Amino acid sequence: MLQIQQIPVLNDNYIYLLHDAESGETAVVDPALAQPVLDTLKQNDWNLTYILNTHHHADHVGGNLTLKQQTNCQIIGSENDQHRIPGIDKKANEGDTLQLGTYTIQVISCTGHTTGHIAFYIPAANALFCGDTLFAMGCGRLFEGTAEQMQQSLNKFSALPLDTKIYCAHEYTAANAKFALSVEPENKDLLATIERVKHLRANKQATVPTTLAQELATNPFLRTNNPEIQKTLAMQGASELAIFTELRERKNRF
Ligand code: ZN
Ligand code: FE
Repeated sequence: MLQIQQIPVLNDNYIYLLHDAESGETAVVDPALAQPVLDTLKQNDWNLTYILNTHHHADHVGGNLTLKQQTNCQIIGSENDQHRIPGIDKKANEGDTLQLGTYTIQVISCTGHTTGHIAFYIPAANALFCGDTLFAMGCGRLFEGTAEQMQQSLNKFSALPLDTKIYCAHEYTAANAKFALSVEPENKDLLATIERVKHLRANKQATVPTTLAQELATNPFLRTNNPEIQKTLAMQGASELAIFTELRERKNRF
């Protein structure tokens, strides 16, 4: 079994530790900070094998060098971003794989938020670590890429099995839900989800991971073909890319 530990850090970031008990190998996804990772490793008596970076932003790579120095781990990041992933050892591209014990980790290129953004998909654990590309009821901002690139990236995720668990890098769910409701006020799945999210956040609990099925039912950025969303935008019959672009711009202003 793959053990997954979720560590909330900074305002709203999540760091994920993945541990394969059989081999003893451990990976960390997007260590914003080193110390909380070192503490968790120590508590569990785990040794760090890999750092997996989804992209170069400081709140995803901030712990890289300290962790590498203290644990001798290897750092995996996008080849496109090799000049800005601190301490990078292995340069990854779409379709590359890497082993964590018996678990195969697949690299999925997902540009949009940044030009070198990648996600890590583990089919045998039904788990996707997607950084700042897909969020619960939202998607990442377009800092370096285009709306078309982001939509193509999200389409890759939409094709994964419905029960895929989506481990996003931020707890943005409550704010995303407000925007989702503004463009699709009659969506019953969305209304039910918002109630559940309110309850979880009131108890200071994480709303992440979500699942692909859940996102397909509630995330406006995966629902550009939905008639109610198209009607809200007064864009019935427009291309999915035009609708996606408009949604992203409205979310920026929301
Ligand atoms: Zn980012
Ligand atoms: Fe981030």
